Amino acid sequence: KADSPVVVVANRLPVDQVTEPDGSTRWQRSPGGLVTALEPFVAGRGGAWVGWSGSAGEAPEPFESGGMQLIPVPLSEGEVDRYYEGMSNASLWPLYHDVVEKPEYHRAWWDTYVQVNKRFAERAAAVAAENAIVWVHDYQLQLVPAMLRQSRPDLTIGFFLHIPFPPYELFTQLPWRSAVVEGLLGADLVGFQRPSAAANFVQLARRLHDLTCRRDQIEYDGRTVVAKAFPISIDAAAFDELASSSEVIARAKEIREELGNPSKMILGVDRLDYTKGIGVRLEAFQELLEDGVLEAPDTVLVQVATPSRERVEHYVHMRETIEQQVGHINGVFGSIAGPAVHYFNQSMPREELAALYRAADVMLVTPYRDGMNLVAKEYVAARGDGGGALVLSEFAGAAAELKQAYLVNPHDIAGVKNQLVRALRAEPAETTKRMRAMRRHLFRNDLEHWANSFFDALRRQA
Ligand code: UDP
Repeated sequence: KADSPVVVVANRLPVDQVTEPDGSTRWQRSPGGLVTALEPFVAGRGGAWVGWSGSAGEAPEPFESGGMQLIPVPLSEGEVDRYYEGMSNASLWPLYHDVVEKPEYHRAWWDTYVQVNKRFAERAAAVAAENAIVWVHDYQLQLVPAMLRQSRPDLTIGFFLHIPFPPYELFTQLPWRSAVVEGLLGADLVGFQRPSAAANFVQLARRLHDLTCRRDQIEYDGRTVVAKAFPISIDAAAFDELASSSEVIARAKEIREELGNPSKMILGVDRLDYTKGIGVRLEAFQELLEDGVLEAPDTVLVQVATPSRERVEHYVHMRETIEQQVGHINGVFGSIAGPAVHYFNQSMPREELAALYRAADVMLVTPYRDGMNLVAKEYVAARGDGGGALVLSEFAGAAAELKQAYLVNPHDIAGVKNQLVRALRAEPAETTKRMRAMRRHLFRNDLEHWANSFFDALRRQA
């Protein structure tokens, strides 16, 4: 079945609607690596992508793009509120990220989640050819595998969870925990970001559903479901090429000059999300300034905090707290020569990010919990010059792979301070050795490798 047609099912279609100056609209391929990685498997041979267009209301008719059939799934305003912002982003997101914020559970959100999952499953069932391979993505669509299997037992179904999967003790908070586990067990292969997440799922199947499990295999309903880690990655070669272009190298130099040629530049790049531990970073930096271990503006912190989920209250509140923290640090430690923290509540284009990565002496990545953290991998890909040091939270998926990073527990401020100072003061020979080792791992385990391994494993299940 190596050439079976492939259908991808994801919350979003791989295109965004853009409005031209004359008011007309057109579809433009979404930025981001996932589309590029999956397109070769889907394009041609009647491959399709089922997803939401991103705006509420009636869905456009199916159309073709990049050799793929795109099947828009409609969502009403109320469904966006309850299925997407509610159940997905205010229940599942915090629950799966170790309850960093308290999840809210509402029966109305769940009912809509079930209803919307059904709609996605129906569209996928209608478009998938006989014996097709269907790859379902992420936490918004965990019920789709079982729903699909029920109507289309001929299909080979894979599921990949892009975010973490919590341990038994946390997952079992979910009032609809059995339905979610049964939904996922509808797949032949369930993929996770790191081995511990796959182990959490197998343990749940054993303890909650009393199923027979052997390592990564779960016996369910007369079938064997495989649960395994497939850590996602980036197009390392493409990022490396971008970051070593003469434009980006020149811009990196310019950034250092614009910052007033500090001896050391520390960088953070995140979506403004409570899982990312941006406050931890600010606290560690502030204490090091207070302790007199670091001095501003001899050492500066550049923090990009891209706006995200601005309609959710937690996010509004969090932004206020962080901006206050930045204001406090700059009030005390800034000078006419410049601030200690350069804070940007903006989205940066890839080229500018690449230049920032290239300019930074230390990249500080401190999430409380993160499925993978592609920013950490982009930093490594950008440092073809062998420079730079990565300080990385143990609780990011990337920590399972980038073992030569300066690993930290983001709950331990003293530990973060120590590792940050160690990274800032390390001999170039040491940082280069660490960076080269991480680059070797990254180039062997890039985005193409991720997609290939998942599809190979899924085909073996067919
Ligand atoms: N990113 C970007 N502009 C920004 C900030 C981030 O394009 O201003 C990109 C970044 O390059 C990375 C992605 O957004 O590819 C963030 O992915 P990550 O896995 O680190 O975190 P997520 O936002 O998915 O939780």
